[in-house]
Amino acid sequence: MSIETAQGVLGDATIGELEAALSGTLVRPGDAAYDEAREVWNAAHDGRPALIVRCAGTADVIRAVEFARSQNLLVAVRGGAHSIAGFSTCDGGIVIDLSAMKGVRVDPAGRRAVAQPGLTWGELDHETQAFGLAVTGGLVSSTGVAGFTLGGGVGWLLRRHGLACDNLVGADVVTADGRLVHADAEENPELFWALRGGGGNFGVVTSFEFELHPVGPQVLAGLVIYPAAEAQQVVSRWRDLTAAMPDELTTLVNLTTAPPLPFLPESVHGTRIVVLAGMYAGGMEAGEAAVRPLRSLGTPLADVMGPMPYLGMQTLLDPLWTRGAYNYFTSAFVEPTDQAIDAVLGAHLSTPTPFSEVHLHHLGGAFGRVPADATAFSQRDASMLCNVIARSPGPEDFDGHIAWARGAREEIARHGNGGMYVNFTGDAAEDKVRAAYPDAVHARLVRVKDEYDPTNLFRLNQNIRPSSAS
Ligand code: FAD
Repeated sequence: MSIETAQGVLGDATIGELEAALSGTLVRPGDAAYDEAREVWNAAHDGRPALIVRCAGTADVIRAVEFARSQNLLVAVRGGAHSIAGFSTCDGGIVIDLSAMKGVRVDPAGRRAVAQPGLTWGELDHETQAFGLAVTGGLVSSTGVAGFTLGGGVGWLLRRHGLACDNLVGADVVTADGRLVHADAEENPELFWALRGGGGNFGVVTSFEFELHPVGPQVLAGLVIYPAAEAQQVVSRWRDLTAAMPDELTTLVNLTTAPPLPFLPESVHGTRIVVLAGMYAGGMEAGEAAVRPLRSLGTPLADVMGPMPYLGMQTLLDPLWTRGAYNYFTSAFVEPTDQAIDAVLGAHLSTPTPFSEVHLHHLGGAFGRVPADATAFSQRDASMLCNVIARSPGPEDFDGHIAWARGAREEIARHGNGGMYVNFTGDAAEDKVRAAYPDAVHARLVRVKDEYDPTNLFRLNQNIRPSSAS
């Protein structure tokens, strides 16, 4: 059966040739598996690809890339399918789905892990924690290792060990011309620089090598929850404390609406709250001392910060972030002045749904010590990262919710450097990409794009347009 793509009709024989060349499977419209195979985490994106290649390994990736190029197809690359902007699906193009590529090898003595691109953070953490090791991973365990790392990667180990991309020591990449190249500090160093923060622009990464660190298995971590009536005091006091926080302690403030959690009084459910969340990546005694001031920023409604498995902290938020809802994120690097805090609190008071929230991530520590030109993620002097999230169970008035998030972001971003974080960006607009990178970094990314993807085959991402397309 021939298939209509956005670029024309693909004949049966052409599709059959691709299918025969794969070790994995090809899914197309009409197949029983099609609807499940096209689904991504964010229900706001309901793409109907012409073909979905479920790759079994690197050979399949090379074949899929060559096929896409020869047939002039729009290409979406999928790891964990958590792209907020919907980049891992498309209409009428080809999805290169890596989610079945879940191989991982941990070298406990060398403290390294080599991971395939279909792994989620839950899966990689599981393997590394068997040896008491970890690398900075996502706050929600279903998030893909691949997209997360290529965009940067903010997690509970950020202040202790930097972003996920700061711990990447090498990668294998299938480039737009179907070659497999390796990138590390010595080999293809410009590509290696670009992969660490430049997103999926430069090819399909088929293998990530990470440096690992001893973490846990028990850590001091959890949440202290305050009423929104105390938000001004709680957030300002937390901000003051961040100035002298040890690198082991990574914290964020989440301004949200109380879900029906068993440790919160029923009277609080459905009211606005301030959640102080954090993890101390070090000894328990030192951790207790470090988190003590966080327990008395106001009058806690609940204090569930204490010893827990690292894997427990890595999955603590999972129940709140199930797939199938409508989501839009937008972000800004901010300096937490009193005025910035007022803007953040104003956004909290106007959230359009109980699932919408505003996060303030404290940066610095190991994250801030990486030289700005060492990786494409270069906003190293930012103090905090604000993530404004519109989330709703259904599509009703979702455009209005997006408008709320954009408006809130605009107010908050006045108190920062104007930059944003590509992984917390639900837009695909060029001005958003430019806002993620200083001019010199963007120009350097364009040079790498020119070398590895001059025709912009990989353009469903926070796109760095090659010179030929500008
Ligand atoms: P995908 O949708 O599969 O891919 C995202 C992008 O990466 C696409 O542009 C895709 O083309 C590209 N890509 C994926 N795999 C490859 C590959 N192998 N080679 C080349 N390009 C590839 N971010 C944080 O920093 N910290 C968090 O704690 C965090 N938590 C999150 C929680 C949730 C519930 C969600 C939805 C997102 C979260 N994010 C977080 C944002 C997250 O980092 C991005 O959405 C990221 O892109 C997800 O990666 P993925 O592989 O799951 O996504």
